Amino acid sequence: MPELPEVESLAADLRERAVGRVIDRADIAEFSVLKTYDPPLSALHGAELKDVARHGKFLDLITTAAGANNPGALHLITHLARAGWLRWREDLPDQPPRPGKGPLAFRLRFADGAGFDLTEAGTRKRLAVYLVTDPAAVPGIASLGPDPLSPEFTAEALGRLLAGRRTQIKGVLRDQKLIAGIGNAYSDEVLHAARMSPFRLASSLNADDAAALHDVIVTTLRDAIDRSAGLVASELKKEKKAGLAVHGRTGEKCPVCGDVVREVSFADSALQYCATCQTGGKPLADRRLSRLLK
Ligand SMILES: [Zn+2]
Repeated sequence: MPELPEVESLAADLRERAVGRVIDRADIAEFSVLKTYDPPLSALHGAELKDVARHGKFLDLITTAAGANNPGALHLITHLARAGWLRWREDLPDQPPRPGKGPLAFRLRFADGAGFDLTEAGTRKRLAVYLVTDPAAVPGIASLGPDPLSPEFTAEALGRLLAGRRTQIKGVLRDQKLIAGIGNAYSDEVLHAARMSPFRLASSLNADDAAALHDVIVTTLRDAIDRSAGLVASELKKEKKAGLAVHGRTGEKCPVCGDVVREVSFADSALQYCATCQTGGKPLADRRLSRLLK
């Protein structure tokens, strides 16, 4: 799943390629993708792309619609979900895509024939597209917590956010309503870099712990963005995977200490961690497994 660093890089890549281009048409190829109906996608015809922004893991294409009757900005917003991706294409067909069973979910075509496809692998369709006049009209954006790269996300702000919260730190880090943009992968990476157990209760962190964790969060995300800077969308996925120390690396060696990377179930998925670096050498109990054995 693309998280803050990848979406940030996608935004930068699109900004470079597409700002100033005029939109010809936007089409859905998968019915469930479009989450709004007013304004219709046809309102984008003739609109110029002014900028590309990011809200958490949401990508926001800011356009100014043509014509005196529609002077306000239109925001074409997408959330790529777990298996979605954006693919830039220099030469798209004139005709709208035919809805079908393929991975194509959405297509934006500029007047010069270039544009991009949003694709989604797998059968669980979660990719979402919104066309709104105000990004806050998207529920997932309205409820976002502070962005970890924004000035408001200070060590003190993180400390306040953790205080009294009797939930596991792993869950806090990837809760979009608490902190925007961190998902399953970068929460694993942050906790590994912070040498912290993913099951540690947020409320157990004192001000110094929170300051240290804050430092690791910002550094981890900035490093990931730096690594992907200048890469085109097609190379981002590979770069993300190569840059991860523990996430998705069950059974491999921890790059810090050489211990084996372990996996344990967490919420609706699994997390990866290093016992030597993070839990005093003691493997975490898999609750899902122990529940089944009971
Ligand atoms: Zn380790």
